[in-house]
Amino acid sequence: MTTEEKRQLELVTMKKIIHIYCRKKHSHCDGTLCDACNDVWQYAQQRINACPHMAHKTFCSTCKTHCYETTYRERIREIMRYGGPRLLFDSPMMLLRHMFIEWKEKHAQ
Ligand SMILES: [Zn+2]
Repeated sequence: MTTEEKRQLELVTMKKIIHIYCRKKHSHCDGTLCDACNDVWQYAQQRINACPHMAHKTFCSTCKTHCYETTYRERIREIMRYGGPRLLFDSPMMLLRHMFIEWKEKHAQ
C-alpha cells in the first residue's frame, strides 16, 4: 500500500467512525455531523493530511507522535472507542480489523 492509499484509508475510516458515533450518540440521523463532531472531523482531516509519519505507521491513533492536541485527542479517542467496534461490525474488512486490533493493544491500559 502506498502512503497516499494509507492516508485515504485513514480518512475514510475516521469519517465512518465519526458518523457512526454522531448518529448513535447525538441522534444525528440526516447523514451529516452535528457541529461538535464536524469540528473534530475537520481537525482530524487537517492532521491526517499533514501527518509526516504516514509512511511508517498504520493509524494516527497508534502514532507515538501526538500531533493531535490534547483536547481533540481525548475526543477522538472517545469517538474511536465507541465507533471502532461498530465499524468493524459493519465492515468486516481484514485490514480495518487489523488496524483496530493494533490500536486497541496500544490503548488497552
Ligand atoms: Zn455529533
